[in-house]
Amino acid sequence: MEDLKKNSILIVDDENSNIMALTHILGSEYMIYAAKTGEKALEAAEKHKPDVILLDIIMPEMDGYALIASLKSSSITQDIPVIFISGLSNFEDEEKGLALGAADYISKPFIPGIVKLRIANQIKIINQLRTIELLSLVDQLTSIPNRRGFDNRFSLEWIRAIREGTFISILMIDVDMFKLYNDTYGHQQGDVVLQIIAKTISQSLNRPGDFAARWGGEEFAVLLPSTNHAGALHIAEIIRKNVEGETILCADGTPTQITVSVGTNTVVPQRNEPSDIFVNGADKALYLAKQTGRNKVCSANEDGKQ
Ligand code: GH3
Ligand code: MG
Ligand code: MG
Repeated sequence: MEDLKKNSILIVDDENSNIMALTHILGSEYMIYAAKTGEKALEAAEKHKPDVILLDIIMPEMDGYALIASLKSSSITQDIPVIFISGLSNFEDEEKGLALGAADYISKPFIPGIVKLRIANQIKIINQLRTIELLSLVDQLTSIPNRRGFDNRFSLEWIRAIREGTFISILMIDVDMFKLYNDTYGHQQGDVVLQIIAKTISQSLNRPGDFAARWGGEEFAVLLPSTNHAGALHIAEIIRKNVEGETILCADGTPTQITVSVGTNTVVPQRNEPSDIFVNGADKALYLAKQTGRNKVCSANEDGKQ
């Protein structure tokens, strides 16, 4: 279990003795992969996506400079920090390595303690970047994914639905008369409502692939992969009912009620079909739900054939 959490390092060096020396220094702290040629290193980098690559410069066939250029030109490996560990110790080589995008440059013979600390620096940066990336996908108020998080997942699921020829459904959910609620009970109480609705929506979903996000303001979106029109209506109705059934207490104990309107859309997307038309369809259905009374579900698939 612990190994899963360990950061990983790919050591690229044509000499076994160097690989062994570095593994000896780093093996207890990190998961180590090793490659003895540039070709093998590219393969290993794409397969294992290590957190840091330690790279020798002088190697037969593809040298370290050529290898870093390849790594930086692939979208899969371009963000992996590369540290050169090289027998070339003049400033020109160091400058060339850094100019090619290396994160750091260590000259051989190396001091084990310094290698460890320099790698620890890169690992710290990469872990911080990952935390920031994760935080940037989550809405602070409700702790569910935000619009960015939704967009990320949506683009993956859209492509998957095209590839597999399966249904995909979206629900657009908007809180009814929320301005009035805020004006009556205060903005802070309005925030509590948004938190409760986010939780209620999340708890109304059963399948692992279902995905709820805060679209912005008082709007939420739900993505239902492999779900047809009837399934989307079913989930939308459960969400609507669950929100309606919630009694939300104010700080002074006053009980309040809130409702949502939902627009749904379902398609089996075709290759090159733009996904924004799909989202707009759900938005139009939501607008119809608002126009025709609120606290209801409307669908963009009027013929119900999806
Ligand atoms: P409708 O039923 O037509 O959707 O009416 P509405 O009042 O909900 O719609 P409108 O778009 O007029 O107002 C949206 C309100 O949502 C206004 C805004 O103050 C509130 N709102 C948006 N984001 C937040 C938020 O983060 N917190 C709180 N408390 N309120 C928010
Ligand atoms: Mg709105
Ligand atoms: Mg509203």
